[in-house]
Amino acid sequence: MSKINWNFNNTYFNLSRSFKEDIDPVPVRNPDLVLLNDKLASSLDLDFSKISHKELSKIFSGNLLPEGSNSIAQAYAGHQFGHFTMLGDGRAVLIGEHTNKSNIKYDIQFKGSGKTAFSRNGDGRAALGPMLREYLISEAMFNLNIPTTRSLAVVKTGEDIVRDTPLQGAVLTRVALSHIRVGTFQYIAARQRKDELEILMNYVIKRHYPNIENSQNKALDLLKAVMEKQIDLVINWMRVGFIHGVMNTDNMSISGETIDYGPCAFMDIYDPKTVFSSIDRMGRYAYCNQPFITKWNLSRFAECLISLIDKDQKKSIKLATEIIDTFEKKYEEKWLNMMRNKLGLYGVDDKDKSLILDLLTWMHQKKKDYTNTFCHLMNLKNQKDKDFEDNDFQNWKKRWQDRLKIKNNTYEKFIKLMRRVNPLVIPRNHKVEEALNEANQGNLKPTIQFLDILKNPYNEKKNIDEYQMPSLSNKNYKTFCGT
Ligand code: AMP
Ligand code: MG
Repeated sequence: MSKINWNFNNTYFNLSRSFKEDIDPVPVRNPDLVLLNDKLASSLDLDFSKISHKELSKIFSGNLLPEGSNSIAQAYAGHQFGHFTMLGDGRAVLIGEHTNKSNIKYDIQFKGSGKTAFSRNGDGRAALGPMLREYLISEAMFNLNIPTTRSLAVVKTGEDIVRDTPLQGAVLTRVALSHIRVGTFQYIAARQRKDELEILMNYVIKRHYPNIENSQNKALDLLKAVMEKQIDLVINWMRVGFIHGVMNTDNMSISGETIDYGPCAFMDIYDPKTVFSSIDRMGRYAYCNQPFITKWNLSRFAECLISLIDKDQKKSIKLATEIIDTFEKKYEEKWLNMMRNKLGLYGVDDKDKSLILDLLTWMHQKKKDYTNTFCHLMNLKNQKDKDFEDNDFQNWKKRWQDRLKIKNNTYEKFIKLMRRVNPLVIPRNHKVEEALNEANQGNLKPTIQFLDILKNPYNEKKNIDEYQMPSLSNKNYKTFCGT
């Protein structure tokens, strides 16, 4: 076989049995590669160009494991919709950690690869539609410059899986800085083994936060570092109208990447209460709740670290609480700056917050599309002008234009700033569904075309009009989890 250049050095595999189960993917009947991410492969310094379709299908289904891999299912727990549960990789195996030529280490994980010790009542399998959905949306997030796990390949297994109706089975190859979650810490903390917790903390610091390796209080600094990453992440989500859908603590990555694309979706009409997930009946993970949930999850993370922060538990809790209590102020500051960027505003003005909130309120009241409103402000005509003839909007626009004139701003400068942060295209729900319906019937063309459209979301392009239009009948759009 030609050289692919896998470069495995599997450190998580070398941790003790408490952290994982050693297990291979369960072979599948008739693997058939449907997507391979060449760009991602080349950024990993992997070369699949000389490998046959048949061989690739075997590799990305887990039927043929690369040399140097050591497959494991990772143990973790998590608060699911607020309730603590023991979980673990129930349908995924980490085949190893690959290092590219720039010395960046990546987890290579198969999702949908069969039962593990953590499968509970599940079959360990995944369906084609949801795996293609994860591929599409994670690539969209990457192109939007938002930290995310990525998708290297999707393979059909040639086996049907049993859901409400039989569905085509599939395996997704997921690439992540690591799959360590808040839930990983919760699992180890629940075992009440301080030695294991220390091992996990040191592992995470070495792998993701080496700058705090010599710090006086590593646990406290880790909490601060993860909090910064998570605030930045959720602000990015708010910027583009992304709704994760299942922000359980097992779906919050310690490295700060967006992980686990289940019932996620992008908001079209601006409504802070937007929820798409069919299982989120209380709106726990609604668009506007995402920052609060981030803080809630970080508090669960802080609880795990208490025994490592200080020997004196009281002191430890006080120190951790002080950090968690800074969340709101930090978030608000960063959120305001993000929104200033979206509006092309340089510097700080006392009235910025009300200017921003008044626009959001107008969008909400008048049911305007979030993405397209900012396109309109950037003078990109993708929405009917009459939508913006509204008096309230015109009054707001005058205030905005007055604000634009201060702090040495110019037209070129503010447009440049806005164009960097306001996408022209997002993976709109009806277009995602359209592509996946075709893919389920064997036609991958719309998915491939969509992936191409989503490549440079901040640039003007021909033929993107239909991807910019909100759906006319999107009101009851629902997404489903764990399929
Ligand atoms: P998720 O909703 O994808 O974050 O998954 C939550 C938990 O359920 C994780 O522990 C998954 O591994 C597990 N899980 C989801 N679907 C399946 C399945 N079909 N078989 C086994 N475990 C599953
Ligand atoms: Mg998950």
